[in-house]
Amino acid sequence: MQIRKNSKSERFRSFIAPRPRPNDRLLRSLGCAIDANPGLIAVDHFGQTSVHGVWAAGNVVTPSAQVITAAGAGSASAIAINRWLLQKDLDVASAARP
Ligand SMILES: Cc1cc2nc3c(=O)[nH]c(=O)nc-3n(C[C@H](O)[C@H](O)[C@H](O)COP(=O)(O)OP(=O)(O)OC[C@H]3O[C@@H](n4cnc5c(N)ncnc54)[C@H](O)[C@@H]3O)c2cc1C
Repeated sequence: MQIRKNSKSERFRSFIAPRPRPNDRLLRSLGCAIDANPGLIAVDHFGQTSVHGVWAAGNVVTPSAQVITAAGAGSASAIAINRWLLQKDLDVASAARP
């Protein structure tokens, strides 16, 4: 087995543990704050990031997410987003009242 150039090692078998990394480039580029530990996008209980109007759920915020927990978090975020949008509509409507 060759690990590096000019570096060979006699081995019968090798196991390499992958280091999973979420594709969170979009969220980082928007300026979402990072939770120092474990180094993923920081969110509140409803998935709200530090950037106004941006939510996140699933593997980008939870390293141990599974399909069912990612879907559950996404559902909770969807409810929060709906409430946020409704509140904006209500604010606009009440501001327009004479
Ligand atoms: C090898 C492996 C095996 C697994 N086995 C299981 C299992 O048996 N059971 C289980 O419950 N979980 C399993 N999981 C975990 C599970 O796959 C994840 O927890 C789950 O898919 C997380 O869902 P998500 O929506 O957060 O991310 P994803 O399912 O990764 O979805 C994110 C989506 O966003 C898209 N995306 C990213 N950036 C952008 C962008 N800028 N614009 C548009 N789209 C974008 C990606 O293409 C992707 O389609 C496994 C994971 C791996 C890696």
